[in-house]
Amino acid sequence: MTYPFGAVVGMDDMRLALLLNAVSPAIGGVLVRGEKGTAKSTTVRALAAVLPSVAVVPGCRFACDPAAPDPACPDGPHEPAAPAQTRPARLVELPVGASEDRVVGSLDLERALTEGVKAFEPGLLAAAHRGVLYVDEVNLLHDHLVDLLLDAAALGTAYVEREGVSVRHAARFLLVGTMNPEEGELRPQLLDRFGLTVEVAAPRDPAVRAEVVRRRFAHDADPAGFGAAWAPEEASLAARIADARARLPRVVLSDDALRQVTAVCAAFDVDGLRADLVTARTAIAHAAWCGREEVTEDDVRVAARLALPHRRRRNPFDAPGLDDDTLDQALEDSRPEDAPDEDPPPPDGPGDGGTPPPPPNDDAGPGPGPDEGGYRDKGSPEGGEEAAGAPAREKAAVAPSDPFRARRLEVPGIGTGVAGRRSKARAERGRVVGSVRPSGPVTRLHLVDTVLAAAPHQVARGRSGPGLRIAREDLRQATLEGREGNLVLFVVDASGSMGSRARMGAVKGAVLSLLLDAYQRRDKVGLVTFRGGDAELALPPTWSVEAAAARLRELPTGGRTPLAAGLHRAAETLRVERVRDPQRRPLLVVVTDGRATGARGSDAVGAAHTAARRLADAGTAAVVVDCESGPVRLGLAGVLGAHLAARTLRLEELAADALAATVRSVREAA
Ligand SMILES: [Zn+2]
Repeated sequence: MTYPFGAVVGMDDMRLALLLNAVSPAIGGVLVRGEKGTAKSTTVRALAAVLPSVAVVPGCRFACDPAAPDPACPDGPHEPAAPAQTRPARLVELPVGASEDRVVGSLDLERALTEGVKAFEPGLLAAAHRGVLYVDEVNLLHDHLVDLLLDAAALGTAYVEREGVSVRHAARFLLVGTMNPEEGELRPQLLDRFGLTVEVAAPRDPAVRAEVVRRRFAHDADPAGFGAAWAPEEASLAARIADARARLPRVVLSDDALRQVTAVCAAFDVDGLRADLVTARTAIAHAAWCGREEVTEDDVRVAARLALPHRRRRNPFDAPGLDDDTLDQALEDSRPEDAPDEDPPPPDGPGDGGTPPPPPNDDAGPGPGPDEGGYRDKGSPEGGEEAAGAPAREKAAVAPSDPFRARRLEVPGIGTGVAGRRSKARAERGRVVGSVRPSGPVTRLHLVDTVLAAAPHQVARGRSGPGLRIAREDLRQATLEGREGNLVLFVVDASGSMGSRARMGAVKGAVLSLLLDAYQRRDKVGLVTFRGGDAELALPPTWSVEAAAARLRELPTGGRTPLAAGLHRAAETLRVERVRDPQRRPLLVVVTDGRATGARGSDAVGAAHTAARRLADAGTAAVVVDCESGPVRLGLAGVLGAHLAARTLRLEELAADALAATVRSVREAA
């Protein structure tokens, strides 16, 4: 029993965005961003129940409309006067780990080649036609699949092609994605292809929170009774959607309203005209939803708040949101001359929206030091351990220098991990490197090898005319090599040995650059730091490069250099992660000048080298980034690199164009 859509409280923007798309699917879907536990999924799943039901041709697996069947329907052609059957609109969930075949459907190549039959098994896109396609954790879906989904959503068609055999069918659906930004961002290129985005957070108003809990209790105690109590509300929402859909074609977007749309888009400096189109469509849908046949300034305001925030983000580290003052100003400036000077109305939703902005951090403690904030930080200054041999006082965190485009560091060999952009891997996509006998159904046929396998048997099979006789045992599956994402675990020396603040800034800038690179290559990242008495897992492996960047910025520095402890902590982290995510190969990036210090009389350097050899013996791929600077170089990082069986790069060599720069400087010197 799903939770009734009408009973959802405190999610006004999200509900409105979903309803407007239900009225006008041309808006292009909804992306919902928010932390865990905000009932995002519950709300999406509740939507299907209030969508108008659809008439379908009985038996058609592609949900053809009897009034206008898809001429290309693989189950067609349907008779013109095909009987109709009415069923509820569907909500289809796409699991993050789905294969491409599962999503677009699969062609049975075996039957195509051996029997000459074009057999197509519909995928999730076919199932979602005329309904809702929902992807939870859409930020974790591989880019290629997200692209594919957004293309289908934009064209209203799914297309599958394998070795010259192709199938096309209608696939129009309302695409809804939900994600928790703390687990990593969606790439900006994909972000802007969702029609609308909304940010959700748990409501702050205690009365609203109480109502959420009250309804949840009532629902869990008696789901059927709760559903029945809300049935009239559900029915009236469904009727209102149907009504608004019918009104939609009559809604007028006047020149004045259009000018406001374009003025707002220009004020927020969005790329291209896509934003203008989506904003206009949303404003029209909102007018229809409100029972009006003309778009008003209020419709434009609501549309801009839903359609623009994600279109102006340039950097994954920028904060989302839309500045209300800029919006008001743009609307006012573009208002027609003779219009009354109205006060901006509060944002309108199906409930009464307009929650006040969150209060600025209201529980800032009395701690005046530079290290405030709630980070777990075992090496914080309170500990007396610093006193021993480390005169270095706690300093304010050093700001990182500007990030640069980093060169690709990769894990040697060929992995089998999830698709990404770092190390070589056996993959679902990529270049063909060979073929094997298929262990299951053939998904990527290696045509040449199949023909070569069939050729010797042609006489025995009694071939007379043109055309090969191909049998099942001839079929060869292509082996593809693409790239995988990895776990990049940084081990960063934050001790006093790293010298000047400028040097530490450069180190942080370099790690930040590698983090940006990891974001683009779909890697998981983790951060181990060591300084003072111990090493700390400052960030357990995560998708969130933002979290890693934040930890890095605040990283305190100074004190002793327990390099061995850092390596031990890294080994332990990798061991746990190998259990959790065995296919993902790790790459250790040790950022250090190679020095190690410990308690008096201990052999800190020897201990570090032993730890390094243990990592190398376990087959851990590693790179050492040498941070040593100054006129006298000891080359200790290189020695550590040898023990790790790792390549050692100087900090300056990390930039993608470092080689070109070096060549240039050598030429200039000559
Ligand atoms: Zn059909």
